[in-house]
Amino acid sequence: MSKSLEKIAKAKKIKYFLISFVDLFGVLRSKLVPTQAIGEMQKNGAGFAGFATWLDMTPADSDMFAIPDPDSLIQIPWNKEVGWLASDLWMNGKPVKASPRVMLKDQIKKLSKRNLVMKSGVECEYFLISPDATDIADTRDIQPKPCYDQSALMRRYDLIKEICDSMLTLGWGPYQNDHEDANGQFEMNWNYDNCLITADRHTFFKFMVKNLAEKHGLRATFMPKPFENLTGNGCHAHVSLWGSKNNKFLDNGDRFGLSKMAYHFLGGVLKNAESLAAFFNPTINSYRRINAPPTKSGASWSPSSISYSGNNRTHMIRIPDPGRFELRLMDGSANPYLLQAGIIASGLYGIENKVDPGQPLQCNMYTDYKNYPDLNKLPDDLEDALEKLSDNKLLKEAFGEDVINSYLKLKKQEIDEFNKDEVFDKRKDITEWERKNTLDC
Ligand SMILES: [Mg+2]
Repeated sequence: MSKSLEKIAKAKKIKYFLISFVDLFGVLRSKLVPTQAIGEMQKNGAGFAGFATWLDMTPADSDMFAIPDPDSLIQIPWNKEVGWLASDLWMNGKPVKASPRVMLKDQIKKLSKRNLVMKSGVECEYFLISPDATDIADTRDIQPKPCYDQSALMRRYDLIKEICDSMLTLGWGPYQNDHEDANGQFEMNWNYDNCLITADRHTFFKFMVKNLAEKHGLRATFMPKPFENLTGNGCHAHVSLWGSKNNKFLDNGDRFGLSKMAYHFLGGVLKNAESLAAFFNPTINSYRRINAPPTKSGASWSPSSISYSGNNRTHMIRIPDPGRFELRLMDGSANPYLLQAGIIASGLYGIENKVDPGQPLQCNMYTDYKNYPDLNKLPDDLEDALEKLSDNKLLKEAFGEDVINSYLKLKKQEIDEFNKDEVFDKRKDITEWERKNTLDC
């Protein structure tokens, strides 16, 4: 065993560990384990009943075990006696193929066979709302174009500072915090890293923001579209592939600074975008954000068509700088592990099949989409996205047919549950079901 958590606990004065995992719906689940028991848990894992979570298991299945990854340890900055650990799920002596962190690690292995690693950064937008979720928390935050509003940002200084200080303590390299395009909406950015590290941090970030907001008497939500008339919560990712030292996406001879490999990778993402939406926009509420009408601020800032561009935010993929691209499809309900895993699987397909992404578009896609009737559109609702996923041979091959079928089964159950009492209609108000089931995503 590489690192002894027992020894680390002694050195860092950690009294308890949260042994955590994320299920297929992105729900963060944990056991709180005293240091005295961590040695045994590190070896054999913490036991869970899989059926009690969003994994496709039955009550008759044997225990599954969450084996913590000591490299993922985060000593919680505002509660230093607790150490947070991401873990991998095992059952009957084998990794659980349909568990998100295992799914991501499987894709990372495929990349490593080509001596490649994916580095990524995520931009997690969130709203600060009243605890009863009826409105944004700051009643003075009413500007029609509130993006970068200094006063609204500084009215939340105490909370933002505590989150940013935490990231500084953890060495994540946070570098900016701002008020985003919707009233009550914020974004905080930290450095990109290897995609597994980013996925673990993304998971912890959501927990941290929600937990600290509560401490400050507020409620934070990453729900894709908590208010019909305001910009939704995106979760854009910046992506590059690296060899041992070099960024393989970088080519300074290209007009946007991207290599052939990058264009093929990007082409694979474009080609599979409709199916990837099932992972990247996984909730019923997600489809109020994409294909959305302009919001109070003037733009939805989310894509409708499947297109790419240079430094132009109206397209699904933007190339802001040489050597990377930004995928703008994902929203705040995206599972942090499936987000990264979906990008790798489709990008690798693009490289293997030398997929041509076609010419980039320079237009304002929000106003000029009618001029491009041949472009594929993103799914209009979750059911549509699931259908695309169920027809997608590549993703079934990449993750295993059983894994995709499990995901489809659980998501279809969710839609059936919704349809019992509700009808999804973007022109109508957000339903109580969406609020109940998505506010804490
Ligand atoms: Mg943003």
